[in-house]
Amino acid sequence: MTNPSFLKNPSTKIPPWLQPLWDSLEFNALPNAVLLYGQTGIGKFDFAIQLSKALLCEEKSAAVPKPCNCCEACRWFESGNHPDFLPLVPETHGKFLPHSSVEGIEESSGGKKSKSSQSDETQDSSEKKEKKNISIEDVRSSIEGLSIGAHRGGNRVVLIYPMEMLRSDAANTLLKSLEEPIGQTIFILVADRLDRVLPTIRSRCRLLAVPRPERQTGLEWLNNTLLNKDKINVPQEELGSIYDEQGGSPYAARMLVLARHNKDEKDEAALAHLASRHLLQGLAKGAEIDWLEIAEKIHKAPIRVLLITQQRWVADIESVHQAGIVRYYPKQLKTLRELSSCINQPRLLRFWKNLLRARTYENHPLAARIQLEVLLLEYKQLFNG
Ligand SMILES: [Zn+2]
Repeated sequence: MTNPSFLKNPSTKIPPWLQPLWDSLEFNALPNAVLLYGQTGIGKFDFAIQLSKALLCEEKSAAVPKPCNCCEACRWFESGNHPDFLPLVPETHGKFLPHSSVEGIEESSGGKKSKSSQSDETQDSSEKKEKKNISIEDVRSSIEGLSIGAHRGGNRVVLIYPMEMLRSDAANTLLKSLEEPIGQTIFILVADRLDRVLPTIRSRCRLLAVPRPERQTGLEWLNNTLLNKDKINVPQEELGSIYDEQGGSPYAARMLVLARHNKDEKDEAALAHLASRHLLQGLAKGAEIDWLEIAEKIHKAPIRVLLITQQRWVADIESVHQAGIVRYYPKQLKTLRELSSCINQPRLLRFWKNLLRARTYENHPLAARIQLEVLLLEYKQLFNG
C-alpha cells in the first residue's frame, strides 16, 4: 500500500491541512527567500522548522524523503546545534525552537511545560516589550556571519519569526541581504499578518499562503493530538466550542486546552481565556454592559486578546445581522440575534474601525485600561433602545 504523503513526510509532523503545501515544495528549487503567512495558530512555525530541517538534511538518496531524521545534519538540527541554522526569534520565542527536549511547537502551542506561552492570544505585557522584538544586533550578527561559507558546505537557513516583531532598523538590514543573496542561504520568514510586513521585503520573497484547516480536519487533528500525545480527553462539545472561539486555529486551541489542563494559573493563555470569558459575559449584555466593572476585571489581561475577542464578537453580530451565520460563538446565537436586531449600523462600523486602529498599537498599548473603558462604552452605545 503506497501512501505518498507518508513517504514524503515520515515524521508526520506536518499536519494534514498543510500536507498539500508541503508536497508542492521543491526543496532543490526554492528561491532564496520565502515568506510563510497565515492566521495565528495553524501550524506555520512547525512547518517552517520542518522546512528548515529538510533544507539542511544531508541524505543523498532522492528516494528518501526529507528530512530523513537519520543523517548527522538532522540529528544536529534536532538537538538545536546545527551550525547552519540561524533562527532569529525574540527571546520570548526561543523555547519554541528545536532543542533536545522539545519537539516542534507551533507559534501558539504552550508546550507541555512552558510557563509563559507566547501565542498570538497571549503575547502582551509591556515589561516584555523589549524581549519580544528581534533586535538589530541579532540580525546584523547573523547576517555578517553569512559572508563566511556554510559550515557544512550545504544550505544555510535563516528563519525569522514573527516578522511583525522585526524592528524597522533590523528589517532594513535584512532587506539588504535579500537584495544581494549570499551563497546557498535561504531565508524563511514567517508572519501572522502579511500587511505588517514591509512591502519591500514582501516583494523579494516567494509568498506562501498557509491555509486554515476545514473545521472537521482541524478538530480531528486536535482531538487526536490531545488524546495520543497529551493524553487529555476533552468532551467533543466543549472541544468544538474552544476550537470555534480560537477562530478555527487548531494549535491555538490545543495550547488553551493544555494550559487549562495543567491548571497553570500563571499561564498567560489561561489568564487571557478567563478575561475573555468575563468580557464576553459583558458583551452579551449589549446596552446593559457594565463597562467600568468589566474593564476593571479584565484590564490586566493582554490587550491583544481582549481586542480580538471584541472583534470576533462584533464580527458575529454583523454576520448574524447580514446572513444569519455565526462563526465564532455559535452557542450564543440567540443572544447575537437579539443584539443584531437593535444594532446601529453606522456606529458599528465606526466601532469596528476603532478596534482595528487599537490593534495596530496592541504591542505598545498606552493606558490599556482607559482604552478598554473607551471601547466598552462605545460598544454600549451601539444598541438602539
Ligand atoms: Zn537528514
